Amino acid sequence: MVIIKLTKRQDEILEIVKQKGPITGKEIAEMLSVSRAALRPDLAILTMSGNLDARPRVGYFFNEKYSVKQQAEKYIHQKVADFKAHPIVVEKSTSVYDAIVQLFLEDVGTLYALDSDGLLAGVVSRKDLLRAAIGNRNLQELPVSVIMTRMPNIITIYPEETLFEAAKKMINYHVDSLPVVKEVDKHNHTYLLVGRITKTTITRAYLEIMEEKSD
Ligand code: ADP
Repeated sequence: MVIIKLTKRQDEILEIVKQKGPITGKEIAEMLSVSRAALRPDLAILTMSGNLDARPRVGYFFNEKYSVKQQAEKYIHQKVADFKAHPIVVEKSTSVYDAIVQLFLEDVGTLYALDSDGLLAGVVSRKDLLRAAIGNRNLQELPVSVIMTRMPNIITIYPEETLFEAAKKMINYHVDSLPVVKEVDKHNHTYLLVGRITKTTITRAYLEIMEEKSD
């Protein structure tokens, strides 16, 4: 089975077979107001690639399994830039107390800490804040810079990378979100924060694509 990029006409044929299959080539040609001969190359491509199954004297069937694979392929190539959300940030001198308040107000699971130049300095997650809250009386005095995961240990993603790469990083590194960054100076680990990708982003994109809303 090969994944191929379909032409508009091939997409139309697939849609017809999906709705009306089993359907003969002649009937498809009539619906599209083209000759049977004009349709033959498209039907051959769709059958050989696995999009359609053909049965002699019965007609063409839609191949459900292939369709799911093709949708998945589409999903894999989506760019982080097109799906990234707005990052919720705090200054790294912000207190743990204020960070917890921010987490609730913004309804997020992770905050990003910036340094005085506005560059990404750290990641503060729910667990980081819970851990700090256990046994620490003075959360108003404790800055998030003490408890955050900091550079160079932050797993980042670039806008031009794909959602597939983002999903792989989140699973492999056991994190719920990734800061989307632009490189300022790789050697010094300085990055500008331009967005965030979370497991919710991935799930939402998956639903959109499977429902073909993104077309
Ligand atoms: P939670 O704490 O809500 O379970 P995570 O699983 O994302 O959220 O975080 C687990 C730990 O990983 C925390 O200590 C957090 O600081 C760290 N972390 C979260 N995101 C990243 C990331 N992108 N890169 C490096 N560390 C991260």
